[in-house]
Amino acid sequence: MEKQLIAAGTGVGFRLQRGSLLTVIDPEGGQSGDLAAFSVDGSERLSSGRTFDYGGKIYVSTGDVLWSDRSNPLLTIVTDQVGRHDLLYAPCSLEMYRKQYGVTGYHANCHDNLCSALRGAGIDPEPLVSTLNFFMDARVAADGSLSFEPPRSRAGDSMVLRAEMDLVVALSACPASTCNGGAAPRPLMFSVE
Ligand SMILES: [Zn+2]
Repeated sequence: MEKQLIAAGTGVGFRLQRGSLLTVIDPEGGQSGDLAAFSVDGSERLSSGRTFDYGGKIYVSTGDVLWSDRSNPLLTIVTDQVGRHDLLYAPCSLEMYRKQYGVTGYHANCHDNLCSALRGAGIDPEPLVSTLNFFMDARVAADGSLSFEPPRSRAGDSMVLRAEMDLVVALSACPASTCNGGAAPRPLMFSVE
């Protein structure tokens, strides 16, 4: 099981055969990432809304299924050492950095990282609405207001997901310092077996 690096603030894309296991790893701790998943023909994609429908909750962990927009299982979380991930927020985008943070030039972002990685793997990804923002600690207050805390992942923590169909998956090591404890972006790692 060879671990592969996702350099800080960048993305990768690859095929994942049904039944294979994807491990995502936070080598340094406190770093979140985004996962996008499509059927290999591009006709189905991860849907947060359908995952909420069939799971009945907004937080997913061990044993939970990530569903497609056509109501088929895409991935099952097999093990999870972190226990908190987000399915509410869209992947960070250039427009988001401009509106929320006043960025004027280019800013690396998960949306572009994922879309370019998916295009490289033969998928037409846009509009890319739903991602699993793994290790991201988003909180929902009783009145519905949202906030986030630094990821709970410690150095070396991981999550394992099993592919429930042949997939194209993209991963991005999120370059947003706000949801990663204010630190500079750090790398992630992954392996497939
Ligand atoms: Zn991001």
